[in-house]
Amino acid sequence: MATTRSARARKAAAEAGALSAVTIDVGADDSFVYRIACAQCTTAASARATGRTERRPWSTYRPGADNGYLAAMDRWTFHLTERHPDEDAPCLAYLEAAQQRLHERRDQG
Ligand SMILES: [Zn+2]
Repeated sequence: MATTRSARARKAAAEAGALSAVTIDVGADDSFVYRIACAQCTTAASARATGRTERRPWSTYRPGADNGYLAAMDRWTFHLTERHPDEDAPCLAYLEAAQQRLHERRDQG
C-alpha cells in the first residue's frame, strides 16, 4: 500500500513538474487524496490559535472537494498557466482537457 502510494506520488510529481510538491493522503473512504503544493507561491491562512495570519504554500487541496488525481492535477495545471506561464510541465499537455472538465463541472452546477 505504502509503496503504491509513493509510486503514485512520484508519477504525479513527474507530471506536475519542477515547482510541485505532491503528497497523497488516504481519505476516509480509502480513496487517494492528492495535494499538490507550489514551491514558489504562498497563501494567507489565519491561524485560529494565535489570531495571526500565516503564509502557507499554495496547494490544490480543497476541504470537502474532490481531491482525486484528475481534480488536483486540473487545479495545478490552471495554477501553472495563471501564475507561472513560463514554466514547462508535462501536465500542461492536458490543459485543453482540464478546461473541458472545468466547463462540464460548471454545467452540472
Ligand atoms: Zn505557484
